Amino acid sequence: MGFCNSCGRPIVKKDYGTNEDGSPNPDYCIDCFQDGEFTEPDITLNEMIIRKSKEMMAKNPRLAETEATGITTMFLPGLKRWHVEEDYSKFD
Ligand SMILES: [Zn+2]
Repeated sequence: MGFCNSCGRPIVKKDYGTNEDGSPNPDYCIDCFQDGEFTEPDITLNEMIIRKSKEMMAKNPRLAETEATGITTMFLPGLKRWHVEEDYSKFD
């Protein structure tokens, strides 16, 4: 089992995103990546951190917000999608 390099959720084969040619993309989940594109290309790392923190708190009602954001701010910035600062030149 791997995890999505955009939102960080654990994924198995049936959760894989899809490339432009329809083949599975094991780097991302189907919610984040479809047909070779991110489903939400404009979402920022910060927005993803807030969203995932809220999801974690919804699943674990006893989890404090500081704990949830502590985990997501540690984990999400290391994922492939958010690790592209030095690659901006190829998008211009
Ligand atoms: Zn995802």
